This record gives sequence, structure tokens and C-alpha cells, in this order.
Amino acid sequence: KIADRHYEDEVSIPGLPPLHKGHPDVHLRQGVINSLHLNASGEVDAEKAFFVADLSSVYRQHERWKKLLPEIEPFYAVKCNPDPYVLRLLAALGTGFDCASNREIQQVLELGINPDRIIFANPCKATSFIRSSAKAGVDMMTFDNTDELHKVARTHPGAKLVVRILTDDSKSLCRLGLKYGAPLVTVPALLAKARELKLDVVGVSFHVGSGCYDSSAFADAVMRARTAWDMGKEAGYDFKLLDVGGGFEDATFENTAAVLTEAIDQYFPQRENIRIIAEPGRYYVSKAFSLAANIIARRAPPAPEHGAQEADVDPEHPSVMYYINDGVYGAFNCILFDHQSPQPYVLSMNGSFHVPSSAPLRASSVWGPTCDSMDCVCPMVQLPAGLQVGDWLAFENMGAYTICAASQFNGFEVSRVVYTTGAGPGAVEVREALRAFQG
Ligand code: PLP
Repeated sequence: KIADRHYEDEVSIPGLPPLHKGHPDVHLRQGVINSLHLNASGEVDAEKAFFVADLSSVYRQHERWKKLLPEIEPFYAVKCNPDPYVLRLLAALGTGFDCASNREIQQVLELGINPDRIIFANPCKATSFIRSSAKAGVDMMTFDNTDELHKVARTHPGAKLVVRILTDDSKSLCRLGLKYGAPLVTVPALLAKARELKLDVVGVSFHVGSGCYDSSAFADAVMRARTAWDMGKEAGYDFKLLDVGGGFEDATFENTAAVLTEAIDQYFPQRENIRIIAEPGRYYVSKAFSLAANIIARRAPPAPEHGAQEADVDPEHPSVMYYINDGVYGAFNCILFDHQSPQPYVLSMNGSFHVPSSAPLRASSVWGPTCDSMDCVCPMVQLPAGLQVGDWLAFENMGAYTICAASQFNGFEVSRVVYTTGAGPGAVEVREALRAFQG
């Protein structure tokens, strides 16, 4: 552990319960806390791309959540980033967990979490998964179709079911309604079937779509949830749970929280006996992770002969191609699956962390390491002209839907994570981590 020799002081973040409570293997340290970056022969691999995760950023997002949405219990969406330290931190902070599969449920239970802090929020589950969740005591689960009800009746008759309704997701980055959610007109028949099968439906859930920048979508969804709630009453149920799903964005969180609170006040004015939960994912982790990647190759126009003028470069078309050691098949799968456009900044140049602000810029493109031409990270970006092989680029907001869906295509390993606590994984922290790697 290279970094630990520099950062032995264990720190406590004000208000943060000791992370190692019940989890003796986790210690927050100031600066880098884990830097096991060894290659196959046990040597430090100083060239490998790596994430820097700032756990205090996750903590701050939780504090912000509690302040702005005090009535809504967050059930973190594990799929977004199942990083073990993030999960442990959130477990210590008392959140619940939204799991999509058996494996996620296992991972959360292994943290010592009580099964009643888990919602199995996948409306279309394999029968074997429903059976295992029954065994594990995970009762809360969503559904949006009658086949699911039959499976649950057979394998987990004691389940506490939550009907997931379809809401307007047209303004969100990822439209989950294309795949999930019962249209309101189908809800009465679904609930009648649930009653016939003697199943317990305890409430309503929705998801406005992942990456929802339009806060009014939450208000509209709460209105629809109210209609479904009343349909529950008609069917003879006494719902007790409202699940407002995920979709929360860091940049619009204040507005979304205000709009959501107002809608809940309007449509659920009497709610002493109603439990309200949410399934935030990216809100908690997106900005907590940065990625540092090494320039492993470059294709540039030939340098001008001594005394000659540099050939005209078109500022609109990339003249330099940089190849870095993480790409679309790795962390940057978020470009394909999560509709992101990560933009790099220069972490180190010519072996120095001092990047002259006066350096002339060149239109450049940035590519991943695999042999596939689809593996393009940035088709067009302005980067300093003197950037070369061995220099480092970094990318912010890389915590959501990145590591979790990264593959090892072409034999490239998934980039490791270095953990810090501080002011966020900005250039200072990422350089600090890089310096630690390079000894
Ligand atoms: N809940 C469910 C059922 C989801 O499918 C997702 C994301 O796909 C989430 C929660 C998390 O959404 P977000 O990361 O936008 O908060």
C-alpha cells in the first residue's frame, strides 16, 4: 500500500458515524486510502488508469438529501455503482437499498443489512430470484404485469408487493418507461388479479426515467400515483408505501426536491401512516468519482521542419488522435448506455503537474485502447498542443453507470478505484493519487 505510508492519520468527517463500526476492514483516511495497484508480477503499475472516489462527497449528498427531502427515505440503487465502500458508507448512514438481482441482494445482505431495508425493484424477475429473495427474507418487491403476480404467488406468497406505474419519462436521459411500468388503465385489473391470488399489495412506485432534468415530471408522476393509490382502495387494499423512484440529478436537486415535496403535499395531504421511499442512484455517486487515464499512444501530424511554418491546422477538425487506457468498453460505456459526453482535462503534461494555461490548443480526438473504431471517448475536444504519450487526462462525474457495466473486452482490465476523503475528487485529489502511484 504505497499511499498509506503518507496518509496514516485516520480522520473522522464531522457528523459521519465511524465507517468501520461493524465493518472492521474499512477505515477512512485523509488522502488516498487504498492504492493497491499492482500488476501481475506484484509491481506497482504506475501507468494504469484509475478512479478516484471521494467518499465524503457521497456523505455530503446524503446530508443534502436529508435536509431537502426529510420525509423520504433513500433506498440507494445499487446497480448505479455497487462499489463496496460506497455501499458500506451508505449502510452506516442508514439508507435502504434498491436491488435489481439476487447478486445485488446478496452483496447488500453481506453488509449486515436487515432484509427489510431492501426493495427488490425489478418488475420482471426470474422465478428463482423471487424464490431466493423469499428465503433471504426480502419481501418488498415491485411488479407491473400479471405473469409476475403468478410467479410471486407460487414462490413468495408473503411478499409485500408494490405496483410500478408508467409515468412520463420523455424528458429523461434514459427512458425506462419503454420497458417497465403499468399504464394506469391496466392497474385495476392488475390489483384485482393480485387480490384473487391472495397477494398483499402495499403501495405504488414509479420511475420518471434516469437522469431527469425536468422536475415537473415528478409532480405529474405523484399525481398519477395518487390515482393508482385510489384504485388500490377500490380493490380493497389499504396502501401504506409510496416509492418515488430514482432520476434525481445533482444539478437540479434543489428544484426537484421542492417540486416533489409540493406535489406530495398536494396529493397526499394526510400521510401520517404513509411511508415514502425513493431509489436514487446517480445523485449519490456521479460526482464522487473521477477517472484518470494515461495517454498510451498518439497519432499526430509530423512536426514542422526546423524553421518551417507549422502546416495550417483546421480548428474545427481534430488533427491529433490520443489513445488512452480506458474506453467505451470500460468506464466510458456510459457514453453508449447512459448518453453521457465526458470531457477531459489535462492532469499532467510533459511529466509535470503544472499545465501552462497559455499552451496553444489543438482540435483533438480521444480514443479508448481496444482495436474497435467504435471505441471513441471524445470525437472532438480542444487539448494543449504539447500533450504527448505518458501524459495524463482526467474526467469528472464518472461515478454513475460506469464501473458497473465495464467489460474486459480485448483483455483490458476494469480500472481500479482509489479512495479519498476531502473536498471532492477534483484535480488536486486526482494528482495526489497519481503522485502516490508514481512514488
Ligand atoms: N430504480 C430503478 C428501478 C432503476 O431502474 C434505476 C435506474 O435504472 C434507478 C432506481 C436509479 O435511477 P437513477 O440513477 O437515475 O437515480
